[in-house]
Amino acid sequence: MSTVNRETPRPAAGRAGIKKELPAHFKDYRHVWVFIELERGQVHPVSFELLGEGRKLADKLGVELAGVVIGPPGEATRPAVADAFAYGADLVYIVEAPLLADYRNEPFTKAMTDLVVTHKPEILLLGATTLGRDLAGSVATTLLTGLTADCTELDVDTDGSLAATRPTFGGSLLCTIYTLNYRPQMATVRPRVMPMPQRTDRPAGRVIRHKLSVPEDEIVTKVLGFLPDSQSANANLAYADVVVAGGLGLGSAENLQLVKNLARAIGAEHGCSRPLVQKGWMSADRQIGQTGKTIRPKLYIAAGISGAIQHRVGVEGADLIVAINTDPNAPIFDFAHLGIVTDAIRFLPALTEAFTRRLSPHNRDKLAS
Ligand SMILES: Cc1cc2nc3c(=O)[nH]c(=O)nc-3n(C[C@H](O)[C@H](O)[C@H](O)COP(=O)(O)OP(=O)(O)OC[C@H]3O[C@@H](n4cnc5c(N)ncnc54)[C@H](O)[C@@H]3O)c2cc1C
Repeated sequence: MSTVNRETPRPAAGRAGIKKELPAHFKDYRHVWVFIELERGQVHPVSFELLGEGRKLADKLGVELAGVVIGPPGEATRPAVADAFAYGADLVYIVEAPLLADYRNEPFTKAMTDLVVTHKPEILLLGATTLGRDLAGSVATTLLTGLTADCTELDVDTDGSLAATRPTFGGSLLCTIYTLNYRPQMATVRPRVMPMPQRTDRPAGRVIRHKLSVPEDEIVTKVLGFLPDSQSANANLAYADVVVAGGLGLGSAENLQLVKNLARAIGAEHGCSRPLVQKGWMSADRQIGQTGKTIRPKLYIAAGISGAIQHRVGVEGADLIVAINTDPNAPIFDFAHLGIVTDAIRFLPALTEAFTRRLSPHNRDKLAS
C-alpha cells in the first residue's frame, strides 16, 4: 500500500515579472457570467460546477454572478433559470427565440456576443463540452478576446485579472494564462474538474431579457433531425460513482472483458487509458484522462494502468483510488490510496467473484450511495 502524494506542482500565484497596467476602459467590464448549457430541455451539470466556481470568483472580485440562458421561448428555459439561482447566480440573462430550440453555432454565437457587447461581463465561463467548446471558440473570435480552454483551476490575481490554469506540454506542466489586453476574459472547464456545489432552493432573482436580432433565413445550418448516439448514451463515466478501468497492462482487447465483468458485478462504469482507444480496443468516450473524461467517483479501480500524468489529472478527484499493477514502482502508486502489486489478469476474476458472492443487488446500491 502506498501513501497519498498529491503534490502536483502548482504555478506560483501572481504574475511576477509581467505586471501590466490594465487599460482604463476595462473598468466598464464587470461581473462574472456562466453559460447555462441547455440542450433538449436538459441543463448540463457542468453549468452548476461552473456556477460554484463563478461564485468564488465573483465574491473575490466583489461583483455579481450571472447565469446566461439561451433557448426557445416558453417552458423549456424555466428550469434552467430556476437552477441557475439555486446554484448561486444573483441574476440571469435570458435570450429566447424559436430558432434557439436546438443548438446551432450561428444564432447562439449571435445571442451570446450581443449580450456581452451590451452588458460587458469581465469573466465569461463555459463548460468544455462539445457544445460549449464550439460556442466558446466562435464567441471569443467574434469578440476578438482571449479564451483559455480546459482549465483546471480558476482564480483572481491581485489586480482582479482572471488567472486561468491549465495543463501544458502534454500535461507535464501547469501554466497560468492571463488575458491582459482584451475583455471579457473567457475560459472553459471540462465536466467534473470542479466540485459540484450545494443546491439551495431560493426565490428567483432578477431576470434580464434580451432580444435576438437574427432571422431564420440568415442561418445556414438547419436541424433536420436527431439520431441517438448509442455509444455515448451508454458511457456516463464523468458522473459515475464507481469506475473500473483497464490499461495496456491487460495485454489484449479480450482481457478488457475482465474489467467489464468487474464493473458489471459492482454496478460501475468501465473505462480505459488512452493507448487502448488508440489501439481500437475501446471507444473514445471511455477514455479517462487529460484528453478523455475527468472523473470524480467515490471509488476508482485502475488495472494495468501506469499512472502517467495525463491519466492522473483525470482521476485525482476520486475519493478512493485502488491500483492493481505488477510493478511496485509504477507512478500510479504515488497517488493511489490503496495499491495491490499483482497480475491484474489473475486478480480481476478473483475480485469479481468475491464481489459477486458478497454483493446482493441491495448491497450494490448501497456501495454507490
Ligand atoms: C498530449 C497527451 C495526452 C494524453 N492524454 C491521455 C489521457 O487522456 N489518458 C491517458 O490514459 N493517457 C493519456 N496520454 C498517454 C499517457 O502519457 C500514457 O502513455 C498512458 O496513460 C499509458 O497508458 P497505460 O498506463 O495503459 O500504459 P503503460 O504506461 O504501458 O502502463 C501499463 C502498466 O501496466 C502494468 N502491467 C503490465 N502487465 C500487468 C499485469 N499483468 N497486471 C497488472 N499490471 C500490469 C505495467 O507495470 C505498467 O505500469 C496522453 C499523452 C499525451 C502526450
